[in-house]
Amino acid sequence: MSLIVHKYGGTSMGSTDRIKNVAKRVAKWSRAGYQMVVVPSAMSGETNRLLGLAKELAPSSASMSYQRELDMLASTGEQASSALLAIALQAEGVESVSYAGWQLPIRTNSAFTKARIESIEDKRVMADLDKGKVVIITGFQGVDEHSNITTLGRGGSDTSAVAIAAALKASECLIYTDVDGVYTTDPRVVPEAKRLLTISFEEMLEMASMGSKVLQIRSVEFAGKYKVPLRVLSSFTPWDIDLTEEARSGTLISFEEDEKMEQAIVSGIAFNRDEAKISVLGVPDKPGIAYQILGAVAQANIEVDMIIQNISRDGKTDFSFTVHRNDHAKTLDLLKSQVIPELGAAEVVGDTKICKVSIVGIGMRSHVGVASKMFKTLSEEGINIQMISTSEIKTSVVIDEKYMELAVRALHKTFDLDQDKA
Ligand code: ASP
Ligand code: MG
Repeated sequence: MSLIVHKYGGTSMGSTDRIKNVAKRVAKWSRAGYQMVVVPSAMSGETNRLLGLAKELAPSSASMSYQRELDMLASTGEQASSALLAIALQAEGVESVSYAGWQLPIRTNSAFTKARIESIEDKRVMADLDKGKVVIITGFQGVDEHSNITTLGRGGSDTSAVAIAAALKASECLIYTDVDGVYTTDPRVVPEAKRLLTISFEEMLEMASMGSKVLQIRSVEFAGKYKVPLRVLSSFTPWDIDLTEEARSGTLISFEEDEKMEQAIVSGIAFNRDEAKISVLGVPDKPGIAYQILGAVAQANIEVDMIIQNISRDGKTDFSFTVHRNDHAKTLDLLKSQVIPELGAAEVVGDTKICKVSIVGIGMRSHVGVASKMFKTLSEEGINIQMISTSEIKTSVVIDEKYMELAVRALHKTFDLDQDKA
């Protein structure tokens, strides 16, 4: 009898009616003979509501004691939805029990609000499954070595589900959500976007990190590391559709590259508006400058994405990089107050009105000219490229944010992503 993990997002758990539907779907799988573990998110809006209450009482603070309480608070959202689902299943006549992460326990480190899972104790779960019960485990949370409740970061229930699937050696982890799969790009930007039947784990990683918000990126990393077969599918199909049909729907995130007979060169277009560009101008070009600039940034715990250093002229060079938009002001302050005076650079400027657009595809490994086709398309649209970065399976550009949709649409067309694949 194979073991399956289902994960239901906040929208799927958004009301008692929807929870009833989830229960009916899970009951169908259970009655078909699968051992079932279900990982729900909090009911939609609940995590925001809870965190909002905290803010009403005290402005958000990075202090450990405040962050600890945020986790204590936010974890209750999943505790409530898990218990409600267990009750709904019992009402369906299915034996079911729910556990909060700390009860198993799911052990994490102590990084409140962004903890990482270290281990999962499966004894209790296995014993319940052997008794034929459906086991429900709260998403998003665990417990540290001092018995403090921790959470895994927003969207963390995906990671919980994949980690649980890995620990229990489940045969598949099904992520039920409010979209019916992973698309070639965001259908709100390109209505012709197509659902992908399969996507490789590496491509998914690039798509997820780039703003295709279907899965929390860490869940994909986890799935890759532990080779958990992962499927994203809709929770809005009727609960009583044929199980075999349901099991094949959505998008499979696969590890076997040759599973795709006809490999598209580019599988998807990803984009995001979450970054800001920082340029340090007139930097004396000598050994150690990259370290002086970026070392200070890293020390302030600010993540850097793209980096460019220009050739020097008269012994001076320009240095640009991107950071998350939330870190833009902090980075500017840091550079102006510490780095510039030490470095003797002329000026620091920031630009938040940028976006990053990427073409992603494992087919790029074995084809030349893919990036230049991208640049040609952008030039035909009159879009200026500010920065470029490439990896084996991705080419990204930074452009003015006002051209984002134009760029995404044009690239989607150039790479034939709006064509139906047989
Ligand atoms: N409820 C949490 C959040 O909203 C975790 C999740 O839904 O995955 O971020
Ligand atoms: Mg989510």
